[in-house]
Amino acid sequence: MQLYNTLARSKQEFVPIVPGKVGIYCCGPTVYNFAHIGNLRTYIFEDILRRTLRFSGLEVRHVMNITDVGHLESDADEGEDKMEKGARREGLSVWDLARKYEAAWLADMTALNIERPEVICRATEHVAEMIALTERLVERGFAYAAPGAVYFDTSRFGSYAELARLDLSGMQAGAGGRVGVVGEKRHPNDFVLWFLDRPKHLMQWDSPWGRGYPGWHVECSAMSMKYLGETFDIHCGGIDHIPVHHTNEIAQSEAATGKPFVRYWLHGEFLIIGKQDADDDDAYTKMSKSSDNFITVSVVKERGFDPLSYRFLCLMAHYRSELKFTWENLESAQQGLRRVYAQRSGPDPLENDSAYEDARGEVARALYDDLNTPNAVGLLSRYGSDRLWQEFDAVLGLGIAQRRLEREEPLPEEITQLIAARNEARKAKEWAKSDALRDEIISKGYEVGDGPQGTTVKPRIL
Ligand code: AMP
Ligand code: ZN
Repeated sequence: MQLYNTLARSKQEFVPIVPGKVGIYCCGPTVYNFAHIGNLRTYIFEDILRRTLRFSGLEVRHVMNITDVGHLESDADEGEDKMEKGARREGLSVWDLARKYEAAWLADMTALNIERPEVICRATEHVAEMIALTERLVERGFAYAAPGAVYFDTSRFGSYAELARLDLSGMQAGAGGRVGVVGEKRHPNDFVLWFLDRPKHLMQWDSPWGRGYPGWHVECSAMSMKYLGETFDIHCGGIDHIPVHHTNEIAQSEAATGKPFVRYWLHGEFLIIGKQDADDDDAYTKMSKSSDNFITVSVVKERGFDPLSYRFLCLMAHYRSELKFTWENLESAQQGLRRVYAQRSGPDPLENDSAYEDARGEVARALYDDLNTPNAVGLLSRYGSDRLWQEFDAVLGLGIAQRRLEREEPLPEEITQLIAARNEARKAKEWAKSDALRDEIISKGYEVGDGPQGTTVKPRIL
């Protein structure tokens, strides 16, 4: 299998450290708000990676963290902690906020058929490991304590920023760039391992340097090495993590252990979306939590789409290309997926076993070529074999069997009751009530129509 390794800026043959097994770490959500469909594009790419590795015969151990402390508004350690800001916005405790958005994120992952990683770990439950890593760095002379924080000393780590290929010589501190304000730091690129002297911060732990809380970067190093070992196979995230977060993870981990941290770094490109009231090509921008172009899985559902149509849309682009989101693109993905679900009847064009094996090999090769899902989908569509689609659904996760089963199952009791209530409301000419009931049925995943016997429904998609 060939994977594009950001370290080498090229595709490389993937060879696991331990034959037959693969360890993967993916940076997970900061749980201060709902995930948007851009974040979820990255998790879909990582899910395709894990499923493809498994399809190729490897045993996968996939670890993902939940950041519930320490991620400041700027990746360069400035601004407020995102969790504290979110807690203030919602009038919740930071802990309740974290649990609320962690649960919402897990529900989104399920709606998009993203498999659960083998390990999901919360930062707040691994503070001891983060302190131990920071201590190791201090002992080895790679970190220093100042009044406001313990910092990683980037000047001591010779290959700092190799991943991002940054030219550090002319780098200016502050002004919202990659590096923070110098202040008490020895060098502009130095970054926080442990925050100190922040009496107002709500989450605090004792440490050898005083009460405080961990920096965001150290979280991922401590948790990934705990669950996967000091050198592991694959680390993923969105491309925005290359210049700061992943650069710092490498520095901390390798300085502490003296070993290479990760063999293959894989990064997903952004989901981009048109700026409001503009539709020319230049008006596309990265979907982000801080701007008004924020679309969640709930919005996708409210607009009448199956979340798996969004998954299908993502698969039709390669993970290393930008993907433009428009509702029209989602609509055509939905139409395409409906055709896949509906194509069951009739003779299979790949009846002959050797023809099937050839086609199967071709689709697998597309996936093994740096996860080329658009090619794989193109081949599957061209062959038009339901058996082949179903076999590769183990990788693509389009829920073919699941959606068909749903169609054959009787309606849930809750839906039959809503239908009865809506028929009553219509009889009584209570139109507002009948519309509200219709919307409620739609929100539960059904299409609603009006037949001669009253309300008709069918599961959306099929
Ligand atoms: P966050 O919860 O902000 O830490 O982000 C979670 C993941 O989503 C990270 O891997 C980011 O790189 C990724 N991400 C953020 N914005 C986008 C976007 N517009 N498209 C794709 N991935 C994104
Ligand atoms: Zn991370």
